[in-house]
Amino acid sequence: MHERILIVEDEQDVAELLRYNLGKAKYRTLTAQSGEEAIEVVRCQTPALVLLDIMLPGLDGWEVCRTLRESNHGKSVPIIMLTALSSEEARIQGLTLGADDYVSKPFSMRELLLKIRKSIDRQQTLNMIMAKAQEQDTSLRYLVHELKNSMNVIGGFSALALQKGEAQNYLRMINAAAIHADSLLDNASLLSRIENQRGLLPMEPIDIGAMVEEVAAVFRDTAKNRHIEIIVVNNKSSLIMGNSTAVRQVLMNLLSNAVKYNRFGGKVWMIVEGIHDGINISIMDEGCGIPSDAIPKIFDKFYRADGTEPIKGAGLGLYIVKLLMEAMGGKIFAKSKTGVGSTFTLSFLKSNTCLEYPDKNEEKVAHIL
Ligand code: ADP
Repeated sequence: MHERILIVEDEQDVAELLRYNLGKAKYRTLTAQSGEEAIEVVRCQTPALVLLDIMLPGLDGWEVCRTLRESNHGKSVPIIMLTALSSEEARIQGLTLGADDYVSKPFSMRELLLKIRKSIDRQQTLNMIMAKAQEQDTSLRYLVHELKNSMNVIGGFSALALQKGEAQNYLRMINAAAIHADSLLDNASLLSRIENQRGLLPMEPIDIGAMVEEVAAVFRDTAKNRHIEIIVVNNKSSLIMGNSTAVRQVLMNLLSNAVKYNRFGGKVWMIVEGIHDGINISIMDEGCGIPSDAIPKIFDKFYRADGTEPIKGAGLGLYIVKLLMEAMGGKIFAKSKTGVGSTFTLSFLKSNTCLEYPDKNEEKVAHIL
């Protein structure tokens, strides 16, 4: 238990009796002797429940209840009104103003404790349901964001094919985007699974050089429209351990950013290089860069750095990249200088490294679970 309960009561002996009994029932208590003080305590200390007397000096309990329900801090805190007024009208007025329950003085402490527990439990269940709904909303936004990217590719290349009559070339890109959109739909629950740390991403060896080339090819024509060149540097073919849908998604999100935040005529490098026990892939651009104070926040859900508003975005791409990398036991680093460009580096374990050290791999799988 140990939840904090605010007692709003100007009669010292009643307040003391409540504090004593709530303490015995393992609650922590806060006290306020006037309506104004109660509103301030709720604002600063967000109690789990408010026990609210009606007859108070200054603002009375009705006003306090109304003010709390209209404020951000107090709109969902459970309120039990506690008063000598026992008429039906008083009871109805309290409940109409948004109180959760009503107890008349003199009251039974056992009954009051039961009502307190019930109100707190109900609120906690409600909070859980709200968090779940928000999570689902995030998954939906993610899906819309990514499907929109695929639809842009499909729309763009089919228009070019019609315009230039070089269908064969563009059909390859359209097909790749359609396959990606399809796998996105197959993985619609991926994000919420990973967010809940419940999902285990099936891992497999991936030829990362080939996948980098494949993703670069999808973006090359779009980039050309702004005279941006995508250069792949990959000296030898390397196998990493990952989930191919997730790795493709990560590369697409980073390359899409490197192109859209780049300057007209800029370059993007995708560099695959071996490090001691793994493979690093760096995506480097010559774009606007990211201010140093924004870098720690760019992986947060819905975050967009100041100044990037004119460029379309949902602030979800990097959040998803980070979740997917964590789910695969990989890492991501960002370096940037405003006016010069940004580099995002992905770090994966080599496929053969995982096979040589099965314990290490098991540890990572356990972490995802
Ligand atoms: P989105 O691009 O949809 O806004 P992201 O999560 O992909 O969302 O990126 C978050 C923010 O990080 C972007 O809004 C932008 O401010 C910044 N950012 C990401 N990648 C780059 C980049 N390559 N160059 C400059 N800024 C970037």
